[in-house]
Amino acid sequence: MGIARSLLGACLGWLLLLTALPARAADTVVLTDATPAVPLSSHVLYYHDAAAKDSLRDSAHKLANNRFARLPDESAAFGFQTGAYWFHVRLLNRSEREQRWLLVQQYALSDNIDVYANYADGRTQHWRGGDALPFADGRSISYRHPNFLIDLPREQPVDVFVRVQSQSSMQVPLKLYTQAAFTEMSRDAQLGMGVYYGILLALFFYNMVLWLTLRDASYFWYLLHICAFGLVLFTLNGLGFEYLWPNSTWLADKSVPLSICLSQVGMQQFTRTFLGLRERWRLGDRISLGIIAFYVLLGLAATQLPYHVTTPIASATVFLSISWVAALGLVITRRGYKPAVIFLLAWAMFLLGTGMFAAVAFGLVPKVFLTEYGKEIGSAMEMLLLSIGLGYRYSALRSENERIIRDSRDQLEQKVAQRTSELSNALNQLADAHGRLRESSQRDSLTGLHNRSFFHEGMEGLLSQARSGRHLSLLMIDLDHFKQINDRHGHLVGDACLRWAAGVIGQTLRQHNALLARFGGEEFVVALPGTDLEGATHVAEELRARLRAEPFRCEGATIQVTASFGVHSVDTRSKAGAETALQRADEALYRAKADGRDCVRTSAVMAA
Ligand code: GH3
Ligand code: MG
Ligand code: MG
Repeated sequence: MGIARSLLGACLGWLLLLTALPARAADTVVLTDATPAVPLSSHVLYYHDAAAKDSLRDSAHKLANNRFARLPDESAAFGFQTGAYWFHVRLLNRSEREQRWLLVQQYALSDNIDVYANYADGRTQHWRGGDALPFADGRSISYRHPNFLIDLPREQPVDVFVRVQSQSSMQVPLKLYTQAAFTEMSRDAQLGMGVYYGILLALFFYNMVLWLTLRDASYFWYLLHICAFGLVLFTLNGLGFEYLWPNSTWLADKSVPLSICLSQVGMQQFTRTFLGLRERWRLGDRISLGIIAFYVLLGLAATQLPYHVTTPIASATVFLSISWVAALGLVITRRGYKPAVIFLLAWAMFLLGTGMFAAVAFGLVPKVFLTEYGKEIGSAMEMLLLSIGLGYRYSALRSENERIIRDSRDQLEQKVAQRTSELSNALNQLADAHGRLRESSQRDSLTGLHNRSFFHEGMEGLLSQARSGRHLSLLMIDLDHFKQINDRHGHLVGDACLRWAAGVIGQTLRQHNALLARFGGEEFVVALPGTDLEGATHVAEELRARLRAEPFRCEGATIQVTASFGVHSVDTRSKAGAETALQRADEALYRAKADGRDCVRTSAVMAA
């Protein structure tokens, strides 16, 4: 019974295999010496084991039951998925030389890879790989992509099953190489990587020197940005696992979300300083700070939460973060900040490259050279343009600084000129005031004539002229009975009378070169340089006549005013001073008073 059933099962199995084989005949990949490197995507069949419970036997059964399907668009990129994916390909080795072929999983981040080779003789061979194992354990050849060296006996079909289970994006681009072809390919790929990281390193050191010399913060953030971004690519390429943390499966797991978060912090911070957001767009600056805070938190969360939770968030938000940076570039460019143009161009390159990479991760576009290496090409261009942009920005800043210094110097010069003119105005006013004060200190306030002290000063000069032979005469004038005028008409009328008399005397003396002063009370003194006694007597007589000629009129009263005159001519040989001369004139005046007033007396009579 049991035998019958197993026979029936075997017959049914063969029947199924027979019906299945023609349909899958095209899936047998024939390997020859002419095809040393064979991409398997167009031959591979797959199915999604959502519960991740199937064994190799289950999987083989499903293959037999036609449950496997061709890859959509021949692309083995499915985005973030749960469960396991099974892939199958049948290989037939017709190569004369190669007995062992290398199966390469050209995506570095898969956690667990199981490769099974089912041989025609019923033998099964099993390899394990992926970054859930230490680097050295998960691959046949030490290389950044997991790889498996499979025995393929000549002319024998071998069924290869690949099971991939990973929290990372489900990407399984399988390729089969002869060992020689793999060596050639990996050499070229490593050279390409070397060129790329070489560019990044050169830009890093160049800008580090600039940062150390210029101490401009945006250079520092550029360095962080370039390092963090380089780290992201290093991680995604599998080089981080190969060279930096080959034994840390924890870091192999966490490095992707962590480096993405770090790169976004660096990128946003660099953008803030490069564009001078705080000064140019306050709201934009706040949003950028919010994004930075978000990535700091996400980075912290990534150390605790599983990869498949944080990485899709980090990868998806990178779109928004980069778009935001590009939008900032656009806004600041439109606000007329010239270095932002280069910045915008750099970001367009980056956006294109990284956008392509993320689109591949989400299974939106097929994996071809440009999409796979878009991020390298785009980012290298971006970093280069940003480095140029930094230089341009620095020179723009410098010329702006020079302009500010020039402007402030001009303003300072203007201010100094203004202050100087204000100061000289003030000095002029002060000199005026001083002059007025000096003038008023030389004048008598009632009559406006010079006062006694001014007369004394003037006398000194005139006396020294007299000593050198020039005539000098003095008149001493005293109004007659002035007390009576005061008594009769009041003090105010007396004052007005004094002013009037001073005016008459002043006017009369205008034609003579005389120094006139109010000597005190109702007395006046006159110095007549260049005038001898006779001339002075004439002047005195003229004055006396003028005073008499017309009476003083005030408040209806008519007052006859007379004056007595003492005349003295200074002896040019005398060494006597002003006081003596004045005394002589006064004595003559006294005699005029004694002789009945309203007359002129000279000192010459006494001297004679
Ligand atoms: P004489 O002919 O002898 O000179 O008689 P006099 O009254 O003029 O002489 P006296 O010296 O006795 O008086 C001078 C008067 O002049 C006395 C004083 O009140 C008056 N006097 C002096 N200064 C002023 C003044 O500034 N204003 C007025 N209103 N009177 C003055
Ligand atoms: Mg008097
Ligand atoms: Mg008098």
